[in-house]
Amino acid sequence: MTEQQAQTSPGGFVDVHTHLIHPKFEGEEDAAAQRAAAAGVEMVIVNGLEPVSNRRTLELCAKHPNLQPALGIYPVDACCNFIDPQTWPHPFDSPARFDVDAEVDFIESVADQIIAVGECGLDGYWIKDGAALGEQERVLRRLCEVAIKHDLPVILHTRKAERRTFEIIVEMGVKKADFHCWGGKSKLAVKIAQQGYSFSIPPVVERSQAFQSLARKLPLECILTETDAPYMGPDQGQRNEPAYIPRGVAAIAKARGEDPAAVAVAIRDNFKRLFGC
Ligand SMILES: [Zn+2]
Repeated sequence: MTEQQAQTSPGGFVDVHTHLIHPKFEGEEDAAAQRAAAAGVEMVIVNGLEPVSNRRTLELCAKHPNLQPALGIYPVDACCNFIDPQTWPHPFDSPARFDVDAEVDFIESVADQIIAVGECGLDGYWIKDGAALGEQERVLRRLCEVAIKHDLPVILHTRKAERRTFEIIVEMGVKKADFHCWGGKSKLAVKIAQQGYSFSIPPVVERSQAFQSLARKLPLECILTETDAPYMGPDQGQRNEPAYIPRGVAAIAKARGEDPAAVAVAIRDNFKRLFGC
């Protein structure tokens, strides 16, 4: 199969991390889900971030067979009671501060309706304050406990806190985890992959040498695809969306020098192993 055919033939594609509940998709959430289905993206995991997007994520996914919900607390939101909200450009119309523990309890209360816990993790890019970073870790541990108890994978944000996030999930005994949108060293990623964890690569891999290098170095059985839409798209300055997954798969296959159709099949199998469907 040529790269062009891989991009156009429908079926079998997966997006493990997207944000369809986002101002950039307002009023277009259903259309974006349909465009993904038309592009052959049969599994799209919509990731919630805080109380408002978590609830809207459940509602949206209930309407579309190709959408699956993951609920979580974004690391900057996790420490919302420890930071000045003015310093964090929150994209949602949700309250800048909320009861984080009540939200973890809510996520646990709907554990039987979700495919994973996430987005969650640590963020050392926006957050430098020690107390706020400590709070992020506390919330991550609570969410990992929910995931373990309900046998759900975690979808991890690790920006500028890659090694620490890895240490915590190992210490907690988390067996199923996806490291989304990896920005750390390839060497550390390979070490994490050797422990059986997965990495999801976004379509920006088309034009990002760092992601091409990551795609080459990781074992194929540890690679998944995501969009992180509306971010991390293949076209500079343009909104990303789940329908662009086939472009990401083609770019991953090209970087690895492998057949795009075979890579797509392997990634679909990897998804099934981690998420069970
Ligand atoms: Zn995200």
